Amino acid sequence: MQKAEIIAIGSELLTPDKIDTNSLWFTQKLNEIGIEVIMKAVVGDDIELLKQAINSALKRSDVIILTGGLGPTEDDVTRQAVAEALGRKLIFNEEVARQIKEKFARMNRQMPEINKRQAFVVEGAVILENPNGTAVGMFIELNEKSLAVLPGPPRENQPMFEKDVLPRLGDSASGVVFRRRLLRVSGMGESAVDEAIAPIYSKYENIRTSILFNRSEIEIHLTAKAKSQQEADEALEKLASEITEKLGIAVFALNGETMEEVVGRLLKERRKTLAVAESCTGGLIGARLTDIAGASEYFLLGVTAYANEAKIKMLDVPSELIKRHGAVSAEVAEAMASGVRKKAGSDYGISVTGIAGPSGGTKEKPVGLVFIGYSDETETKSFKVILPGDRYLIRWRASQAALDYLRRKILHKEKI
Ligand code: AMP
Ligand code: MG
Repeated sequence: MQKAEIIAIGSELLTPDKIDTNSLWFTQKLNEIGIEVIMKAVVGDDIELLKQAINSALKRSDVIILTGGLGPTEDDVTRQAVAEALGRKLIFNEEVARQIKEKFARMNRQMPEINKRQAFVVEGAVILENPNGTAVGMFIELNEKSLAVLPGPPRENQPMFEKDVLPRLGDSASGVVFRRRLLRVSGMGESAVDEAIAPIYSKYENIRTSILFNRSEIEIHLTAKAKSQQEADEALEKLASEITEKLGIAVFALNGETMEEVVGRLLKERRKTLAVAESCTGGLIGARLTDIAGASEYFLLGVTAYANEAKIKMLDVPSELIKRHGAVSAEVAEAMASGVRKKAGSDYGISVTGIAGPSGGTKEKPVGLVFIGYSDETETKSFKVILPGDRYLIRWRASQAALDYLRRKILHKEKI
């Protein structure tokens, strides 16, 4: 099996503010064609350290991926470091310079003089075009080893990697591929999931299954090893459907989709619309739903009604209900859900009212107590949860519970 190594370059990646995510994505792509990543490094913008990193990587690995440090400024030293590490020259490429100028011209700008630096390429390198930026990539082959030098921004290096790097690596790979699949499960604990599906997944010797808890859901990660992508995908499909059959409606995503994507898709497919009334989640549900492109097809209205007055005025919640039961109650959750549905004229309304903490809890109504409301044309319901965690987690879990409630309602209605 071929071995790969990834070097992420940039001093910002050594601060607490910025994390190297590129290597995760590259690792997945490399694994899919049977190349194993044996080491990763993060190096600041320092030419000597970078040369050392390149030289030691060349001793160990067949494939070396460098990302970052191809910008036009003084601190971007990757070109120079690669040239020096390999003992090759940096050559000014007229064609690359012309293309960079043209990119600036298209934005109605003149190319700053420093961008000329980006037209220098390592002697003998294949130039990889960058439709999304000015830094070209480079692919260098030397005695059975390959070195890919890519820009830092994911929207630039990902298309480049898929189009120009992977095809150059694929041929020499060992004939083993890895494919991954991610299922997500709501409303069940980690051990309950494992207990239910262990007898199923343990039959699949070529698939590694790991079960993780993530904020508000259980993730089932499947990694299949096979001779071809097709064989791996078929095995994954078979296992995924056996798991889904066992866990039923609790499985909400078969391909790593988020809850908001799944709910959005269910609404869109059925041409149904939704309005949301939020108290303690403060707009989180609306934000999650509208993160998805095309949400305007189904998301009509989101009301963040924090104050009692707002619930009364904006959502037509009867004031006696709040007086009698309190703002955090099943009755108010239901009135909010049906109120927002009527205001928006949508098919569905969902709502959240609860106590996110850390203060504001009482013995009867502790921190984490949340009521989720649901309303459609024929019924209005609610349920109560007591969510663990800090303020951030309680709000996140409440938003997830509300979206999941809607998802289950939509699917249950179809079964009846
Ligand atoms: P550079 O090519 O070094 O000029 O990087 C440009 C930008 O790409 C940086 O400011 C980061 O936002 C992003 N970037 C660079 N390296 C990485 C990485 N390893 N993971 C994620 N983002 C990165
Ligand atoms: Mg940089």
